[in-house]
Amino acid sequence: MTYPNNILHQIAKPARYTGGEWNSIVKDWDKTALRIVLCYPDLYEIGMSNMALPILYDLLNSQPDVLAERVYAPWTDMEAAMRTAGIPLLSLESKHQLKDFDIIGFSLDYELTYTNVLNILDLGQIPVRASERNDSHPIVIAGGSCSLNPEPMSDFIDFFVIGEGEEVLLELVDSFREWKGKAASKKELLRQVAAIPGIYVPSLYQVEYQADGSVKSITPTAAEAKPIIQRRIVTKLPPPVTRPVVPYIEVVHDRGAVEIQRGCARGCRFCQAGIIYRPVRQRPQQEVLQAVGELIANCGYNVVSLVSLSTSDYPHIEELVASLVHHYDNLALSLPSLRIDSFSVRLMESLPSRRKTGLTFAPEAGSERLRRIINKSTPEDEILETAAAAFARGWKSLKLYFMLGLPTETMDDIEEIVQLVAKIRSSGRRTKGGMPQIRVSLSTFIPKPHTPFQWVAQESEQQLSAKHELLKLGLRRKGSRISWQEPEVSLLEAALSRGDRRLGEVIYRAWKLGSTFDAWNERFNYQNWLRAFEQTGLEPSFYAQREHPLDELLPWAHIDAGVTPAFLKREYQRAIEGKETPDCRYESCNACGLERWQPDCQQKLQKLGA
Ligand code: SF4
Repeated sequence: MTYPNNILHQIAKPARYTGGEWNSIVKDWDKTALRIVLCYPDLYEIGMSNMALPILYDLLNSQPDVLAERVYAPWTDMEAAMRTAGIPLLSLESKHQLKDFDIIGFSLDYELTYTNVLNILDLGQIPVRASERNDSHPIVIAGGSCSLNPEPMSDFIDFFVIGEGEEVLLELVDSFREWKGKAASKKELLRQVAAIPGIYVPSLYQVEYQADGSVKSITPTAAEAKPIIQRRIVTKLPPPVTRPVVPYIEVVHDRGAVEIQRGCARGCRFCQAGIIYRPVRQRPQQEVLQAVGELIANCGYNVVSLVSLSTSDYPHIEELVASLVHHYDNLALSLPSLRIDSFSVRLMESLPSRRKTGLTFAPEAGSERLRRIINKSTPEDEILETAAAAFARGWKSLKLYFMLGLPTETMDDIEEIVQLVAKIRSSGRRTKGGMPQIRVSLSTFIPKPHTPFQWVAQESEQQLSAKHELLKLGLRRKGSRISWQEPEVSLLEAALSRGDRRLGEVIYRAWKLGSTFDAWNERFNYQNWLRAFEQTGLEPSFYAQREHPLDELLPWAHIDAGVTPAFLKREYQRAIEGKETPDCRYESCNACGLERWQPDCQQKLQKLGA
């Protein structure tokens, strides 16, 4: 089946739906036993920039009897054309309908894509609720960072992969093979996979609630379902993908990418990624060098991004950059997530083909007090020195990220953002004699599950709006450009992040009311969501703006991310006391909980005890 030309002629960017890209893998449908479609629930341009999907695509297609294809969320023009013509959503590779696959695998990285999951299933002519699907329908699975609180999506997903998929995926493939061979029921498969470490089958758990609305108990209802599901972690980074699919249209990150390091031990207390990707694992330099060469040869890229949560923390990063520059002519390197220090500026300076257009740093908070509380304690002097070093070396613009609504934040902290930006600007003027461009990007604090701030209440829309107004006034007067996230969007993100399984009904109703692409400003419809909450008898503020007592059973209490609740509580207490916790790579082990599973951590802890 294909999309007819009259449909493709009506819509923007048909290449989002036609496939056939360089390096895409099209296997013989009839000769392949197990068929999987990987779905990213956002637009093609966003999904094609995601790092996880190519790893899974590569891994699954490396199995001779497995076929993995892709699908992304169709934009509204395509959706309307498809619905009018009664044409289902098709995979990019073989153009098969989603319902023809054995397994549909969603990558869930952002809560505001949840309604797109329902829409993709619906456009695939598959019932969106797991309870309404039978043995003739594909198994629907999900992984990604959102699966660390799987409950809000548990009505729609047959099972979740908790943590890193690289090893567990092959164990699942074995289970699927066995299941297909036996022609057993879906229920039998679900019980079978529930026994695999890292797999969570929500239908095998019962959740009860207290009179006040909080969770009373989460109880397994089958022998195979474990009371606690441990996050899967790979001990060694798997080989990098060096033959990824190359899009024909411009996507968000139009470049090659090599993951040089996974995990971060800096311990910023608001950051979920810093917790759920622990421990830190590095890719050897030689492997990075070879991967970059292969990416250039296989894809023709001349820009490669060295991906890590904290790129300047990669050991000997300057040596790696120098080797890459030496080995590959005309190669431009992109180094995301740099620390705020003069080392980062020198590192950027060492890139040969960089254009001095922009440099990005994330102080997150305006005052030293608040930076200490969030455990991202860069002294103001160092921020100013870094900015001055950047301007002195020719950068004319700087992008700064700040987060609003952080625990204990006051209007004085907000005023300090204005002051800090003003000082950076005047340092640029002194150095260059001209006026540097400062762009300020404001995000909102979201109390994310499995972080030390998971119990904290998010600020109200009114409080956040007042802070936005102060910053808009102060920063614009000083000539900076600013962008921000609307408080209603942050409220929804926080509610979905900390939600329990009753939110499935809210997501369903919001989708029924027409919500999709909620992460897109032009599509976000707050009234739909308020109506969906109201129809369900729930309040978004109960999830987002309520301080959760430390002894409350949280909706994700049965998911063990590796870092223990005891460590998170300790960190929360230290935050309130304004105490910092050092990075365990350079100082002592903080006994975060990973020592239970990781031999390297155990050794470090033992050494300290000795
Ligand atoms: S157990 Fe210790 S060494 Fe390991 S990640 Fe946690 S704090 Fe760091």
